Amino acid sequence: MTNHELWQAALGELELTLSKANFTTWFKNTFVSSSDGKSVVISVPNTFTKAWLERKYNTAILKSLQNVTDNSIKEIVYRVDVRPQTKPPTQQTIESATEEGAQAKSVAAALTDTATLSPGKRDKISDSKLNPNYTFANFVVGKGSELAHAAAGAVAQHPGQKYNPLFIYGGVGLGKTHLLQAIGNEMISNLQNARVLYVTCERFTNEFIHAVKNGRGKEFKDTYRNVDLLLIDDIQFLTGKDGTQEEFFHTFNTLHQANKQVVLTSDRPPKQIPALEHRLISRFEWGMMTDISSPDFETRVAILESKCKERNYELDPEILRYVATVIQSNVRELEGALNKIVAFNQFKNTKPTLENAKSLLSSFGPAQVRKNVTPKQIIQSVASYYDVSVEDMLGKCREKRLAFPRQVIMYLMRKEISASYPTIGNELGGRDHTTAMHAYDKIGRELENNPKFRQDLDLIKQRMYNT
Ligand code: ADP
Ligand code: MG
Repeated sequence: MTNHELWQAALGELELTLSKANFTTWFKNTFVSSSDGKSVVISVPNTFTKAWLERKYNTAILKSLQNVTDNSIKEIVYRVDVRPQTKPPTQQTIESATEEGAQAKSVAAALTDTATLSPGKRDKISDSKLNPNYTFANFVVGKGSELAHAAAGAVAQHPGQKYNPLFIYGGVGLGKTHLLQAIGNEMISNLQNARVLYVTCERFTNEFIHAVKNGRGKEFKDTYRNVDLLLIDDIQFLTGKDGTQEEFFHTFNTLHQANKQVVLTSDRPPKQIPALEHRLISRFEWGMMTDISSPDFETRVAILESKCKERNYELDPEILRYVATVIQSNVRELEGALNKIVAFNQFKNTKPTLENAKSLLSSFGPAQVRKNVTPKQIIQSVASYYDVSVEDMLGKCREKRLAFPRQVIMYLMRKEISASYPTIGNELGGRDHTTAMHAYDKIGRELENNPKFRQDLDLIKQRMYNT
């Protein structure tokens, strides 16, 4: 097995235990530069990444390397490696393994394009941003996505005429980006010269800020207001960004008046996006709003079958049904689980069996296969995640740096092991039960409003149950 294969197999595992954002952030541009069967040298792009991998992810990385090598790896050395690589293999792996990576790549291309865009070259916009793999043909339609799929199809066939804007919302990993880009791909295949621009809301914001700073506002406007189809992904990130909202408002109006199509995605409906200007909410509601919800069992199986076909994998229907039973909410996880099973068996040169699928997916299992955790383990997991000491968690100091993790602990004790509020207070150094109640509410709200914190909490839970 080559270093590249080894790392690819380990990444396949890691991807499943980390949030998408963390995975992309910390594992992009990493690769195994050498290994002697016992120890592995992992090259990372900078000292910051090195510190994070060492401090936060070492256990997870070691575990995944051991899983794919029959426990022979005992040690990992991280090294900053800034050698110019002609084509770092792992970068490719990650960029195709995660949608965000693919997106980051196309968006990076978008940025270069826009920065250098001259009017005559504008037609080129459509070349660089869409992931060609996101098409209608390989989108599996189920009850939860029927309407969104139909609306997206109608918009691709009749841009600017049917539903403008089209607003697609729904939870993570349910196919919003896929459908959004499918509209773009379809339109380009129908009309070769169509000017299609796909951009994430974050990128739109950053480009706008840059443009203003560098006196390139006009170029920015020219770019975004001269397209036939504008696709903006994850528009909920407009929250609180007043200047960008203003700019977007005018962009939207210009396009809409010219009967150019705008399609937006979001993790929630417009009214629930905090600090979004009223006039934008009302614009978003002008056209058609449609949500995507989790696929049902039959659709999950159909999605797995389709992914297998795309990749030329053969998996027993029994295994597919098992995966679809264990993973219920999210298509991205469904794909991740499939990749895990396939990577493992390809690596071992074995035929996938239901038994090994079960053991590979044990971490996804429903609550009863989770280990019971104790209050102490909760305290330890949270403290280690936030780099604070257990004593500090139990102590009196109310500094924000300590108060927040403490509240997270209280929340998890209530949520995960149904501890009573007085018990929670006691476990945390004799605090009052009302403090625990307050923490539970506060963290619950934070979870609703702060996607980044949701990822933090997922990560904490994963480690809590996996150690
Ligand atoms: P979102 O943008 O809603 O978070 P994505 O569009 O990125 O989700 O979807 C996550 C992954 O799942 C992608 O690889 C996508 O191709 C796949 N996917 C989601 N829904 C479907 C579906 N109905 N059929 C086929 N693949 C899907
Ligand atoms: Mg998306």
